[in-house]
Amino acid sequence: MKILKALFTVTLAGLASQAMAQAGSESGSTQACSATIEADDAYHFIPLHIDIPDTCKDFTVTLKHVGRLPKAAMGHNWVLTRKADMEPVAKDGILAGATNNYVMPNDQRVIAHTEVIGGGETTSIKFSVALLKPNESYVFFCSFGGHSPLMRGTVALRKTN
Ligand code: ZN
Repeated sequence: MKILKALFTVTLAGLASQAMAQAGSESGSTQACSATIEADDAYHFIPLHIDIPDTCKDFTVTLKHVGRLPKAAMGHNWVLTRKADMEPVAKDGILAGATNNYVMPNDQRVIAHTEVIGGGETTSIKFSVALLKPNESYVFFCSFGGHSPLMRGTVALRKTN
């Protein structure tokens, strides 16, 4: 049963990459419109920078918690904002608390965010690239209480032609 499921997943992934390759060739680009970020039990994000090609319509970020600690102790999320909005959004996130994934509900400064996950878990978020402007500075961070000073990285919209 496990093998069947794995085969099925591989087939689906194959179809998806074929579809992406076709979509890519139509728009004249082969840039990946997704990125995977790992987070661990020692407050690390890897990598610390994401380039988003401006030819992508949507971009998907997959967050993988490769640590072992549970969500309540070492939860991580991935929050995308303008650089100038990071500190206030992180502060409001702590007030919003665990039940809101440490993001204030309907916070217009939050461009995209995932749920909070614990060790061994994976989550993802898809957002419209049209939300990003070429000459703006963007950051991503973990808004779990106390993590944002350590867990932060940068995001840039990249001109691809
Ligand atoms: Zn965290």
